[in-house]
Amino acid sequence: GLSAIFHGKRFMEYKTLRDGARIPMLGLGTYKAGGGEGERVVARAAELGYRLFDTAAMYGNEDAVGRGIRASGIKREDFFVVTKLSHKSYGRAEAAVAESLDRLGLGYIDLMLLHWPFGDYYAAWRVLESFKKKGVIKSIGVSNFDPARLIDLINYNELPPSVDQIETHLLCRRSAERKWMDKYGVAHMGYAPLGHGVKNSMLMLPEVRRAAAKYGVTEAQIALRCQVQSGVIVIPKTVREERLRENLDIFGFEIDKDDMESLAKLDKNEPFIGTPDAPEKAEAALLW
Ligand code: NDP
Repeated sequence: GLSAIFHGKRFMEYKTLRDGARIPMLGLGTYKAGGGEGERVVARAAELGYRLFDTAAMYGNEDAVGRGIRASGIKREDFFVVTKLSHKSYGRAEAAVAESLDRLGLGYIDLMLLHWPFGDYYAAWRVLESFKKKGVIKSIGVSNFDPARLIDLINYNELPPSVDQIETHLLCRRSAERKWMDKYGVAHMGYAPLGHGVKNSMLMLPEVRRAAAKYGVTEAQIALRCQVQSGVIVIPKTVREERLRENLDIFGFEIDKDDMESLAKLDKNEPFIGTPDAPEKAEAALLW
């Protein structure tokens, strides 16, 4: 179920994962936010009320995220830190997890995901299971797994993933995938919740503009609120102070049923990035 607690001037909602961990419904994406800037943005976001941060070994900024969190002066236990094991490291997963732990410098990882379903992800999953048993990783999950691969992983391993992080936004709501995730108790975390930036014009769509005007909020807030209301954990990325505030401030209004239905009609089920089963994607992964 969802519960709300008060952080400073804003509310944050939480969901309970199958393993009992409580995860914020909204966090900060950090892809392309690294170095001194990444550290400052993370520390500032923490001050504003962000508690979940999404990073990855592949982003090269786990160190900056860790430093930002430590610089915030807020208790470690209040944060939910998500990172990802690169498929390039599945053959040396134990060492790679230790390196992530070291770069973050936060003692433990709240949630670690297999970044892509490429390479020897079974071996990597078993390493995540062992770290979870030791308590160094609190929750384990996957990213970019389609439902068939999820079912396979769940059936032939000891521990099931608590989360699948897949591209999800107004033009790609993932309702088919979601039915399977719900059936197997896997929480839906959506990446690129604003459509991966300005490449597309989803925030300019008339349905989105109308809803923004009606509720007196921004188009981005409609995009994020709509997903949170349908149970998706969102991780919008920004490095700008104004947008950090804007993207966080989505817990004080509710989109009504009619508007939720009109927004649902925008779904074209077309991801921009996350098409792991496309042959082109598998080929491209060899080059990363
Ligand atoms: P988003 O959908 O979060 O969009 C980010 C872009 O939108 C940036 O260009 C940002 O610019 C802009 N933006 C942010 N807030 C607003 C706003 N309020 N109004 C208008 N524009 C805004 O894209 P991402 O691809 O970054 O996805 C979010 C996160 O998801 C990533 O950072 C990463 O953590 C994760 N991710 C995971 C993947 C996976 O394979 N598991 C793949 C891709 C992403 P600016 O910074 O200038 O504000």
